Amino acid sequence: MNRTEEIARNLAAVQTRVLQATLAAGRPADAVTLLAVSKSMPAEDIAAAMAAGQRDFGENYAQELRDKRPALAGIPPRWHFIGPLQSNKVKYVAGQVALIHALDGAELLVEVNRRVPEGTVQECLVQVNVAAEPQKRGAAPERLPALLDAFAELPRLRCTGLMVIPPLSDDPEGARPHFVALRKLRDHEAARTRPNVDLRELSMGMSHDLETAISEGATIVRVGTAIFGERRRRA
Ligand SMILES: *Cc1c(COP(=O)(O)O)cnc(C)c1O
Repeated sequence: MNRTEEIARNLAAVQTRVLQATLAAGRPADAVTLLAVSKSMPAEDIAAAMAAGQRDFGENYAQELRDKRPALAGIPPRWHFIGPLQSNKVKYVAGQVALIHALDGAELLVEVNRRVPEGTVQECLVQVNVAAEPQKRGAAPERLPALLDAFAELPRLRCTGLMVIPPLSDDPEGARPHFVALRKLRDHEAARTRPNVDLRELSMGMSHDLETAISEGATIVRVGTAIFGERRRRA
């Protein structure tokens, strides 16, 4: 089996997992978007997945996205930026991807808004550090209301939901409390109407725990390894 066939087979298997989990949760068949996480994989792998029907791709590193984009300009994927964003890298991302997943601070929001081209709108999610892990990015849950309020002053941004990266766990059930926590935060905050905020998306679940995430309401699952195989460690 060559690489193209391997990616197509893996993708089909993941699509089946997503669909089965969605239906098992009693949700509509199209309720969950599969985001293929292509970080550290070459543009040819993305093209192979696109040929097999995949549209949405997530990248973690701003320069890697910038470098890969030209090779796929002919039939561009829907790019998502899912990594931690530094303010000096915002220029490679703002206004150039369908969705930014991991914004977590007021200054960063202001900088992204500033870099979005006039007359366009950038959709984004707020990453929440629901487990309050000290080493992890993401807004503290208690800071979320103020951060969502800030969108009122940011006319080029739309907050369309929340994102979480739960603590590492070998057990797919280990993440469930964190997925539940994110959904409850969303439900709580969605009860309040705010300008430029519509919390319809929950970006949660990866290769090993996507079923758990879908059963708790994920609308976007971010899957790398199960589609593209193990990544080599980043130098
Ligand atoms: C790498 C990455 C993923 C994909 O993880 P896999 O376990 O390979 O599916 C998902 N989300 C984020 C934020 C990532 O950095």
